[in-house]
Amino acid sequence: MKAVVYKGNGQIAMEERPMPVIVDETDAIVEVTLTTICSSDIHIKHGAVPRAAPGTVLGHEFVGRVVETGSAVKKVKPGDRVAVNVETFCGECFFCKRGFVNNCTDENGGWALGCRIDGGQAEYARIPFADNGLTVIPDHVTDEQALFNGDILSTGYWAAKLGEIKPADTVAVIGAGPTGLCTMLCARLYTPAKIIAVDIDEYRLNLAREKGLADIILVPGKDDIEGAVREAASGRGADVVFEAAGGEDTFQTAWKIARPNAVVVVEAMYERPQVLPLPDMYGKNLVFKTGGVDGSYCQEIMDLTACGKLDTDFLITHRCGFGEILEAYDIFENKKDHVIKYAVTFL
Ligand SMILES: [Zn+2]
Ligand SMILES: [Zn+2]
Repeated sequence: MKAVVYKGNGQIAMEERPMPVIVDETDAIVEVTLTTICSSDIHIKHGAVPRAAPGTVLGHEFVGRVVETGSAVKKVKPGDRVAVNVETFCGECFFCKRGFVNNCTDENGGWALGCRIDGGQAEYARIPFADNGLTVIPDHVTDEQALFNGDILSTGYWAAKLGEIKPADTVAVIGAGPTGLCTMLCARLYTPAKIIAVDIDEYRLNLAREKGLADIILVPGKDDIEGAVREAASGRGADVVFEAAGGEDTFQTAWKIARPNAVVVVEAMYERPQVLPLPDMYGKNLVFKTGGVDGSYCQEIMDLTACGKLDTDFLITHRCGFGEILEAYDIFENKKDHVIKYAVTFL
């Protein structure tokens, strides 16, 4: 089968790989029907993910059809259409029992797929702990509607929960890329008074406004971000801030636009260390929550997708066949042609 492989040193390549087989009794083999490229794949390519192992098949955001299951798999069966969770997790360790599946202590636990075990930018993928990591897609939900269930939509959903948004809060989201847009979408579930989106890309901001995700859009360098957020939030600053950009100064913007005692959720993945200027923020009493998604809500997200409360169709701006995925990488990595997300098909 064909697969996109991380070669190390900034290189990826399409290679011929053997078909995956069941290794553990909790595994399933999934025939991938739709896959995509995530900015985390680009971080791996850049060498910014220390745990990523050269030689691994990339891809951690995909849907497919179960073709085979290990003897201990109960929830899914061959023929089921499934969305795949970015995280594989045992469900039994200290962290899993508390929903912190990103820190599952199993050797295959946490974000392993497409990072240190072979992922889903391939025709087939082996999914460890299949009962935990696969979510059955209802018949009336399409592959495209389910594509982001296990990764960027899970991230937005998890981040929105961390934000502790109260009704009528003013929420600021820095970054209107795929994760930021998913965060706005999920923040809406908590009925904030307004969502302020901040990005340097006006096309993305306009999309956020057109889709009803952002009420106010702000562009650094053009708008006075701190002043505008304060003004929009009764002179106080944002009640909840999400940092989903991971840019040079976006972390600084995040804490500055937060009101005292706000929750600042840092969901971005940075390629460089960031400065936490504690003397400058002393007395502001901020609560920082950081990290990578705990993909513990895939079923809830699928239910919300099935009833139309979460709709990510607009994120798919580009489509191609698997044979064209390396060109898609170039377009996605370099943000050409106003790309948000790709849907990559296997025909
Ligand atoms: Zn991802
Ligand atoms: Zn675990």
